[in-house]
Amino acid sequence: MFKIDGNALLTCGVVVVHIVGLDKPGVRFLLQGNEAVARGALEGGVQVATGYPGTPSSEVIETLSEIAKDYGIYVEWSVNEKVAFDVAVGAAVVGARALVTAKNAGVNWYMDMFATVVYGGLPGGLVVYAADDPGAFYSSTEQDTRPLAKSVGVLILEPADQGESKEMVKLGFDYSERFELPVFVRSVTRISHSTGDVLFGEIKKERNKVFFNRHYGLPFRYNVYGPYKYKGEVGPSAKHAWQLEKLEIIKEFVEEVPFNWVEEGDTDVGIVASGIGYSYVKDVLARLDGSVKPWVFKIGTPYPLPIRKLSKFLSNLREVLVVEEGDPLVEEEIKALSKDCCPEIKILGRESGTIRSFGELGLSQVLKAVSELTGSKYYEPSNERRNIKAEIKKIIAPRSSMLCAGCPHLGTYWVLRFALHKTVNKYRDRFKGAWIVNGDIGCYEMGGYGLFAREIEPWREKTTKRVSFDNPYEILDTNYIMGGGIGLAQGQYHAGYREGPIVAVAGDSTFFHACMPALLNATYNKAAITFLVLDNSWTAMTGHQPAPTTGFTATGSPSKTYRIEDVARALGVDDVWVVDPYDIKSAEEALLKAMDKTINESKTTLVVFRRECALQVVRRLTREGKVITHYLVDVSKCVGCRLCVQLGCPAIGWDESSRKAFIDSTLCVSCSLCAQVCPVKAIKPSTEKVVGVKEV
Ligand code: SF4
Ligand code: SF4
Repeated sequence: MFKIDGNALLTCGVVVVHIVGLDKPGVRFLLQGNEAVARGALEGGVQVATGYPGTPSSEVIETLSEIAKDYGIYVEWSVNEKVAFDVAVGAAVVGARALVTAKNAGVNWYMDMFATVVYGGLPGGLVVYAADDPGAFYSSTEQDTRPLAKSVGVLILEPADQGESKEMVKLGFDYSERFELPVFVRSVTRISHSTGDVLFGEIKKERNKVFFNRHYGLPFRYNVYGPYKYKGEVGPSAKHAWQLEKLEIIKEFVEEVPFNWVEEGDTDVGIVASGIGYSYVKDVLARLDGSVKPWVFKIGTPYPLPIRKLSKFLSNLREVLVVEEGDPLVEEEIKALSKDCCPEIKILGRESGTIRSFGELGLSQVLKAVSELTGSKYYEPSNERRNIKAEIKKIIAPRSSMLCAGCPHLGTYWVLRFALHKTVNKYRDRFKGAWIVNGDIGCYEMGGYGLFAREIEPWREKTTKRVSFDNPYEILDTNYIMGGGIGLAQGQYHAGYREGPIVAVAGDSTFFHACMPALLNATYNKAAITFLVLDNSWTAMTGHQPAPTTGFTATGSPSKTYRIEDVARALGVDDVWVVDPYDIKSAEEALLKAMDKTINESKTTLVVFRRECALQVVRRLTREGKVITHYLVDVSKCVGCRLCVQLGCPAIGWDESSRKAFIDSTLCVSCSLCAQVCPVKAIKPSTEKVVGVKEV
């Protein structure tokens, strides 16, 4: 008898098996989109799977890492997406089937190799899986990666649901080997992070033979240069010509691929729906009154499009709505196509403004657009449903994005805030303007202006001004991309900014992902900046995947634990401090010394703030059955100064009636930071145990 628990695990006696690894062809399971991708990889005979954690893509590698040993798959969390991509290409070079995963922002990282490897092709199947994030739920942009894949000229598959996610990844290996080119599978958050019906197929147990024939497929393989002539060209131009020929073969292939089809209608209007757009359209058509049935062309290959089939489809219609998630990629192609096949037809979509051109596609927008197209009425949501929504809204308190209770970054930002104030006071003759703190992406990004931060009055004067801030959520001045802050800081210094200290902040996983070359650049080019690495030993923001600082790999095998200070010294940083952010006094002293050194000796300095992520510590203690006590406020001593509130720990609250602080014992993890900042020693450890932790 099988039992399914919340983590998609099946328990059979004492053996626990991930559902994705079950050898049960013909059975249907509810799988999350990313689990379906992992299953597709298994059914497709994947041999190597790589990726860097990035929501909404992370669960593919997480899932494969759980079943890797059972099926002999090599799975790794790579240090960044570019390395992940290169490792997967290396596997395909020796004939293996490889999968590489990333989120939308991660795709930018591997474009160099992606744009180049298509010039020579690969003997092994390479599936490139990208999970985009329309609506930017987890991302700094809602970038559509399909145009990037189109720009390098490979087949793009775009699933409409979880079932297709599995099929496309599985067949993607076959297609890739058939065309000797990578196949790009593009998903979106709404599929990757929700569950759907997936029909299991056979798990491919045979593996591609791993070989290296130096002459395999020459003159085009493994090297973008070479003396061979093709179409009168040599080197990259010759190889580009070869790739374009392959693309012509792929264009023929998509006319017959099983992921594109037509559904007949009874009117002269139609819908072209790509990827998840098709699922929205199916849902919407079920809500219409059924008086008009539009023609539907379901697209699973947004590039290249099945031109012949589409031309035939369009030529019978007066008006066509294109429904797709992201940029108007398909809409633009169809507009171009219609000029040849049916210039009178009207094409509507995101570019025409029929559906708004930004934000996530929503059911209501598609409903409105389809009902206008077909002149159909649709059923309004019932009052009952509206009332429920209104009631829910009343009881949910608006909440800002924030760091966790007891997060070590709270201590770091507290220390940084005071060190900056002290430094500008100490060097007040030199620093007349603002300091600059350059951050980037990770959980420490909460130190920037979040969605619900205090409203800020912008001004456009080209002067710098000192602005005070009240809490740790307003400390980062810039925040763009992973590892970007250390580079920005150097640019500010070399441009001649001297009105305040220049600081850069990164996390430990980000340090290895993107900061190392930038740090070497800083020491080589002598940038006087202070660099803070917030080392919590995990890639915490994306769900606590291991990093080079964690001590084990994706599959749990023990590995080397890398120390940031050792790497930094090798990169030329002479002045390094390692501090505990829970020890405010010592950490502040070290940071002040580092900033002094930067200012007086024009040096790149580094302070590593090291303390494991509080969530992971609590989880471990809970598993071990250990009891966690909490801190409390002695209201007889509290003078209501609110310094502890300014620390920003979500466990600390403020009672307006008594004008005293209080601590929520169910959240507090006993880090002691608030006790250290209270000027009258009103905060102290309780002997009470925290309910909920002790009983697990
Ligand atoms: S000790 Fe203070 S700062 Fe630390 S978790 Fe508890 S309330 Fe928050
Ligand atoms: S820092 Fe101390 S005195 Fe000030 S509000 Fe908090 S508990 Fe009260």
